[in-house]
Amino acid sequence: MDPVQKLVFLQGGEVVRYGLLVSTIPLDLLLGMTLALSDKTSCSAKPLKKQAVRIMSFGVRGEPEADFHWAYYPQREIPFLRVSIPSFFAADVAPGGYHLIQAEVTDPQANLMEVERKLHDAGILNSSKQVVFRHLAELAYAYPLPTIGLESERRAVLEELESLGIYSMGRFGAGFIKMPTNASLRAGI
Ligand SMILES: Cc1cc2nc3c(=O)[nH]c(=O)nc-3n(C[C@H](O)[C@H](O)[C@H](O)COP(=O)(O)OP(=O)(O)OC[C@H]3O[C@@H](n4cnc5c(N)ncnc54)[C@H](O)[C@@H]3O)c2cc1C
Repeated sequence: MDPVQKLVFLQGGEVVRYGLLVSTIPLDLLLGMTLALSDKTSCSAKPLKKQAVRIMSFGVRGEPEADFHWAYYPQREIPFLRVSIPSFFAADVAPGGYHLIQAEVTDPQANLMEVERKLHDAGILNSSKQVVFRHLAELAYAYPLPTIGLESERRAVLEELESLGIYSMGRFGAGFIKMPTNASLRAGI
């Protein structure tokens, strides 16, 4: 991005001119792709601390065994920190007669089959229920982690970006840490 000429150079070769730019790209990555920043801001472009998460999704025949929308699992022997049943939020996430279960996995060693076994152990999957679909998505930027001194450094960087007409929004931008979905949407508006 060239904030002086107000141009964004896209990977496919397209060049887009802008007036004001709202970005949801994580702030550390945004700084790395922006030209003409002061040395102070460029030097503070350290990687943000974050927790990566792997989302393991299972499509299951029949009705859900569990009766919760989501539940947390703090036990060490369980490789996921939270399980959600998106079918309770919106039936259309799975075809009729099936439902979807999603586990947020932080254990880097755990694979789909092990997580499926643990879902059985936790009573979320029943052995009579057939899993017909398994999917893995890796999120490098899942949960922001606060570090000492980050807040003041970040404020100076955001001010410089805003002076150039760039608004870094969202969970890994201006709203680092304290930003659920509704707050992210409100910030964008
Ligand atoms: C596993 C998980 C579970 C969550 N559960 C909940 C919950 O139950 N309730 C709740 O309120 N919140 C929840 N959240 C938080 C919620 O997802 C975020 O707060 C919200 O999505 C933040 O919105 P955002 O616009 O900042 O980021 P995102 O929704 O992540 O949007 C960022 C966008 O920027 C795009 N992008 C990033 N880098 C680039 C790039 N280099 N070039 C182009 N585009 C790029 C991405 O593709 C993405 O579309 C959860 C988050 C995670 C990870």
